[in-house]
Amino acid sequence: MSIFSPPRYQPPFSPAQRESTAMRAFTAFEKSIKGALFGCRMCGNCILQETAFICPMTCPKGLRNGLCGGATPEQCEVDPSRPCTWYAIYERAEKMGRLDKLLEINAPIDGNRAGHETWIDMVRHWRDREEKPHLLDLLRDRDKFNEEWDKFFYDLRQPDWWQGDAEYHPPTYDEPISLLEANLRTGAFVTTAEIAPPLGASGAIISKKAGWLKGQVAAANFTDNASASARMNSMASSQICQQSGLEAVMQLQARDRSRVIIEADAMGAAGLGIRNILCLSGDHHRFGPTPMVKPDQFDMDAVQVLWMLRRMRDDGIYLDGRAIKRRPMWFLGAAGSPYGANPKFEAIRAEKKINAGAQFIQTQPIFDYDRFTDWLEALDKRNLLDKVYLLPGLIPLKSARAAHFMAGDVPGVVIPPELLKRMDAAGDKDGQAEEGIAIALEMIEKLKNTPGLNGMHIMAVHWEAIVPRLVEEADLPRPLYQDWPIPKEDPAEETAVSVA
Ligand code: SF4
Repeated sequence: MSIFSPPRYQPPFSPAQRESTAMRAFTAFEKSIKGALFGCRMCGNCILQETAFICPMTCPKGLRNGLCGGATPEQCEVDPSRPCTWYAIYERAEKMGRLDKLLEINAPIDGNRAGHETWIDMVRHWRDREEKPHLLDLLRDRDKFNEEWDKFFYDLRQPDWWQGDAEYHPPTYDEPISLLEANLRTGAFVTTAEIAPPLGASGAIISKKAGWLKGQVAAANFTDNASASARMNSMASSQICQQSGLEAVMQLQARDRSRVIIEADAMGAAGLGIRNILCLSGDHHRFGPTPMVKPDQFDMDAVQVLWMLRRMRDDGIYLDGRAIKRRPMWFLGAAGSPYGANPKFEAIRAEKKINAGAQFIQTQPIFDYDRFTDWLEALDKRNLLDKVYLLPGLIPLKSARAAHFMAGDVPGVVIPPELLKRMDAAGDKDGQAEEGIAIALEMIEKLKNTPGLNGMHIMAVHWEAIVPRLVEEADLPRPLYQDWPIPKEDPAEETAVSVA
């Protein structure tokens, strides 16, 4: 049990290579102190300076850049018997006046350093610095001390192959990369929808559903083994959808993927003409039906995936520094969680995703409009609304049972009791479905009239046939651009790219 961090969820790392007896003894000594104080897992890539001196690796997902969508003030979504590590970090950072420190984009772990001591490393780093201030000068000048302190630890925690920062990096291209981006740039209210990838091997069902949605929505999302439950993968589903004439948003989650596989999968998607990628950390295996896999399921988190893919696109480099001759064209997205944690903390997380590379955000489903606008205001206070396209999520409730399941068992979803009561009182199956549609239409009306939003994202959860009716009855604008090539403002010129 540590003094400052919530209890450690996973065992400490061990060095990959055997070390000398003296070094092992020193590592054990460091581990005993840092373990007792910070719950340290000895990841060897210490970012305690960033995280208000609470070890982020005590988070069951090992997230190094902020909380996940299911975090609540009371408990961790993976292990409800413990508090959320990241909630503790935000609260402590706020008390210490260090909230803005949480904006720096931290690197994934360098496995070569995992399990090693870090104190000797710090001494070596100080010794090897070329331009070192004199210690006495530092003691005399507080500002200089703070500046040198920050620089020293920045160099330690940001390896050359990562160089994360806390800045916004606007995309470096001019013409829209995808139809979705082109539609969002028109300023119209843009609708996207989700198609559930099939459990079986037939792609015909995707083509059929894409046919229902073509002309109604700008693009269709394909989840990536959501709830840690296997289905047809997101890339194949997206490709089948695009071949059926509807642009896809491929969801790409970090769970179960190493950094190399994430780069390779994203590049494969680019090769197939998939232009929209929504980057996620992913649901923990606790939520899946299969026996739980090993504790460490996450090599990267959503922020890191965005940072890595944006640099592949805009800087033309892989994480290992190799140059990319023909750069991938991706319009990058992220997920937003209006109900996860305190809106001001969620806004920091959203800012981090936007700084890393998110150009659009699709959120968890909105049922509680007032709490949603709290989140929106928190984003506005951080001046984020001009930097990202916001598409709040909407789920039409098909039955009272589904509504209760979502309210009780799906992390990050909040359904007000009065809506549950309406669903309960709606009578038989058909009555409940009609009530769910009525609730959805009421919410669409509110969202359409909310400043700061750029559209909405309908997640009909195996009820995709309802989407055209919602679009029709809510009088949602149809997408202006539905086919490649996207006409340029000057119609004499046209982009020479094709989706499939
Ligand atoms: S709720 Fe999420 S972010 Fe918080 S400790 Fe649990 S897994 Fe980590």
